[in-house]
Amino acid sequence: MVCAVVRGAGVAPGDIQRLADQAAREREALIVYLGNDVGPITLVVRGKGIARHKPPATIFIPVRLIAKSTAITAHETTHLLTQGWASRVLKEGLAVYTQYRLGEQQGWPNYRRSVHAAARRWIGDDSVTVRTPDEAAAFRRAGKGDTKLKLAAYSVSGSWVMWIVERKLGGGIRRFLDTLYRKGDYEAALGQHYPALVAEWRAYLQAH
Ligand SMILES: [Zn+2]
Repeated sequence: MVCAVVRGAGVAPGDIQRLADQAAREREALIVYLGNDVGPITLVVRGKGIARHKPPATIFIPVRLIAKSTAITAHETTHLLTQGWASRVLKEGLAVYTQYRLGEQQGWPNYRRSVHAAARRWIGDDSVTVRTPDEAAAFRRAGKGDTKLKLAAYSVSGSWVMWIVERKLGGGIRRFLDTLYRKGDYEAALGQHYPALVAEWRAYLQAH
């Protein structure tokens, strides 16, 4: 169940209902996929700000994303269902990945691209230096207007998690959550050192 609340936003009631219905369908799918439930979720539609979440069970979507059909409700719901991450890269990477696979609208950070294509695009952009997943610092470093750096950090994180879940764990999301996501120990979770994994992921990206 998703209950919608509108704060300071001029938006048609029909649009709010459609977004609440979308978020409710995504919530059902994510509960099954991720194996966790935090009960009913409140969706707050605001006139300004960015998409975000607030535990235990509230997500915020600014009205401009509804107008652009880029309302990433699955991304924010994923954060609510997967609290306790070991790193920002794994946290945001998982939400980007689930938005891409289970979200009904595509938006931040890959928009019309696949997650891997978005990562490839940013890795090849010399104006931002996000070349590896080990860029938790990039999230912190990014100022308010530093959109490119944030897009790159989110895209690379999403591609990294997507590759790990689908290629290294054969779609084993529960194994990903139980081992890597909460502990952050690549060698224990995947049996390979981080640099070797990065090299393999980069080769995969170049080949696909
Ligand atoms: Zn996020």
